[in-house]
Amino acid sequence: LLCASQDFDFFYFVQQWPGSYCDTKQSCCYPTTGKPAADFGIHGLWPNYNNGNYPSNCDSGNPFNQKISDLMSSLQKNWPTLACPSGDGNKFWSHEWEKHGTCSESELDQHDYFEASLKLKEKANLLQVLKNAGIKPDDEFYELDSIEEAIKDAIGYTPGIECNVDGSRNSQLYQIYLCVDTSASEFIECPMLPKGRCASRVQFPKF
Ligand code: 5GP
Ligand code: 5GP
Ligand code: 5GP
Repeated sequence: LLCASQDFDFFYFVQQWPGSYCDTKQSCCYPTTGKPAADFGIHGLWPNYNNGNYPSNCDSGNPFNQKISDLMSSLQKNWPTLACPSGDGNKFWSHEWEKHGTCSESELDQHDYFEASLKLKEKANLLQVLKNAGIKPDDEFYELDSIEEAIKDAIGYTPGIECNVDGSRNSQLYQIYLCVDTSASEFIECPMLPKGRCASRVQFPKF
């Protein structure tokens, strides 16, 4: 397309709470590198359109090439895979790059894409933000509004909160979406919030 310098409008930066991935009926598997820390982990950095649609799998000619060895230990710590069977993370990172990262390759090459994601996680510092507001992973229930408010107060923008259900059908905090500008450096107000499927009070499980 003539003059299209980038073919998406913003990113969702999505982090997952490992306790909520693992305590579902489907369960989880720890990475071969060991049990992750009790912290949010990166799920992905997803190019999106303002209308809620999103591009995917944009360039099969640009597969995951693992030229990110300098980021490897940080990726293992901050972007751990919890799917079964256990893996070292490369399959998850490869999936995220190929499905999502190739759709922002006009802005970020592979190394930039993973590096930017790691920086965004550090910048958001979500677990600390929630703890500062008295919201911690202790199996207690918290008002959804108070979770949103704590993040909005600290980061400046309303997050999207996604819940799933545990084995006892409790609604629990699963993923947090922050919106990011197309250069993947600044948080922005979300043009569109994802549908979250949360109850008004949600559990924050231990991990
Ligand atoms: P789910 O159906 O579990 O919500 O999402 C499955 C996958 O679809 C996600 O892991 C992600 O790859 C993609 N996806 C879901 N919602 C969105 C969205 O709003 N934007 C983008 N870019 N991808 C999404
Ligand atoms: P999505 O398409 O939802 O972005 O990517 C999710 C895919 O990555 C699924 O195929 C899932 O099996 C795989 N995957 C590997 N590790 C993880 C993980 O820790 N969390 C999630 N949500 N998906 C993972
Ligand atoms: P995918 O089919 O893309 O691997 O994953 C589809 C959905 O199932 C993802 O959104 C992810 O959250 C979930 N999922 C995939 N593998 C696992 C797993 O091993 N354990 C759990 N708890 N969820 C999974």
